[in-house]
Amino acid sequence: MADDLLKFVSIEQRMPAKRAAAERLKDFEEVYAEFDTKGAKEQASRCSQCGVPFCHIHCPLGNNIPDWLRLTAEDRLEDAYEMAASTNNMPEICGRICPQDRLCEGNCVIEKDFDSVTIGSVEKYIADTAWENGWIKPITPPRELEQSIGIIGAGPAGLAAAEELRKQGYQVHVYDRHDRAGGLLIYGIPGFKLEKDVVGRRTGRLEQSGITFHLDFEVGREAELGELREKHDALLIATGVYRARGLKVPGVGMKNIREALDYLIASNRKGLGDTVPEFESGALDAKGKNVVVIGGGDTAMDCVRTAVRQGARSVKCVYRRDRENMPGSVREVLNAEEEGVEFVWLAGPEAFVGTDKVEGVRAYKMRLGAPDATGRQTPEPVPGSSFTLDCDLAVLALGFEPEDLPALFGAPELRVTRWGTVTVDHSTMMTNLPGVFAAGDIVRGASLVVWAIRDGRDAASAIHSFLQQEAVQAA
Ligand code: FAD
Ligand code: SF4
Ligand code: SF4
Repeated sequence: MADDLLKFVSIEQRMPAKRAAAERLKDFEEVYAEFDTKGAKEQASRCSQCGVPFCHIHCPLGNNIPDWLRLTAEDRLEDAYEMAASTNNMPEICGRICPQDRLCEGNCVIEKDFDSVTIGSVEKYIADTAWENGWIKPITPPRELEQSIGIIGAGPAGLAAAEELRKQGYQVHVYDRHDRAGGLLIYGIPGFKLEKDVVGRRTGRLEQSGITFHLDFEVGREAELGELREKHDALLIATGVYRARGLKVPGVGMKNIREALDYLIASNRKGLGDTVPEFESGALDAKGKNVVVIGGGDTAMDCVRTAVRQGARSVKCVYRRDRENMPGSVREVLNAEEEGVEFVWLAGPEAFVGTDKVEGVRAYKMRLGAPDATGRQTPEPVPGSSFTLDCDLAVLALGFEPEDLPALFGAPELRVTRWGTVTVDHSTMMTNLPGVFAAGDIVRGASLVVWAIRDGRDAASAIHSFLQQEAVQAA
């Protein structure tokens, strides 16, 4: 074993510096700084190079984590980047926003009583260094192929597939209904988790690599699925899930009750320098308001943390279970608390109070009852426990479902599950329509960026095999 490794006994776990809460409330910039070279090397050197690396097994991309940690510890950063990029199309993005506590780091078995290796921060450091040093270049395929592939959706699933297919030399066209590529990376996830130029340099590189982006192009409006099938040799549907889950309580139609994504998109657009009428009018600006966010997932955390940065008077997060049982990442809850967000655990909305606009949220206390089929305790209201929270802006963050794609795409023949996700043969990622594949949240339901990348890569390899077979059959 090299001298550069196995330092977990002498070197403690250390995260990159975190900006103080008072400081980070002033802007939408990222919370964590970058490691310096010494810090990254030291932290990488804590790895014990396990024979069976559980970190690697629990990374959805199967990243060769011990290998790039070793290369970092040995100061071979360009090699470390090559290794990291061989399994991940966006290592600096995953390093920033993967829930590492549930994936790689949560499964690091460094040794009992020692804290895990800070895998995500080292991955971010390696890739950011590669960008800074100009090691990341546009793709130059070994040959140009004639076949053209259409990808619907420029989120992480579509972009990962586009990159992998372009590497093979295919003519790749990406269609997106938004005016910028990136999907939820650009318009969903706030800048304090993922600064937008980090996304922009990835999408810019894909453009420079010869991938054609058709933006402001909504499939179903500009063209139906059938028309795109005629244009391309294969298609990938990677449209994500966007229909917000609703809430059925009195007063729900009132003004000032908004869906999480409308709220976050407005804030992200504002940060990108766009004019956003609903923000300028104040409808989607939390400044000076009492904000109540309903939900306990990562989207809810992003909304509360956006509201405190916009200068809300108070920000409360109402969630029906307790801290231990909330789906949002523990790290994000702690960050939100540091920033002044108040959590109202074990509480459920009963009604929105007000005349034409909401003035309060009436909620009742909940307790955790018997476990359901999944073993999770079901929350139930406590009779006579109602209380009211002041509210000028309520944000609903209760999760997302797929839109009705067959209807939207003018393709009733496209098979979907009873939840509306697109049905694929998981061994080929192909839908019931020959040559039409699907990947990312539109197949899995709302998930994670790292899984979308994994699906995009798998879909690219399935499309490549399909087109090769077609070529053999045609010969
Ligand atoms: P998306 O990223 O949703 O991209 C789909 C693209 O398809 C979009 O650009 C959309 O405009 C386009 N599209 C849709 N319909 C059409 C159409 N008809 N025609 C043309 N284009 C269309 N995951 C993490 O790992 N870490 C996090 O911290 C995290 N935070 C999140 C915060 C929020 C607020 C949200 C909502 C999600 C978060 N996620 C996070 C989840 C993650 O963003 C998604 O799992 C991931 O982006 C899914 O990738 P995708 O490519 O399948 O879809
Ligand atoms: Fe960990 Fe995500 Fe990187 Fe995999 S991609 S090593 S899970 S941070
Ligand atoms: Fe290194 Fe931890 Fe992975 Fe083991 S589990 S190889 S110690 S990062």
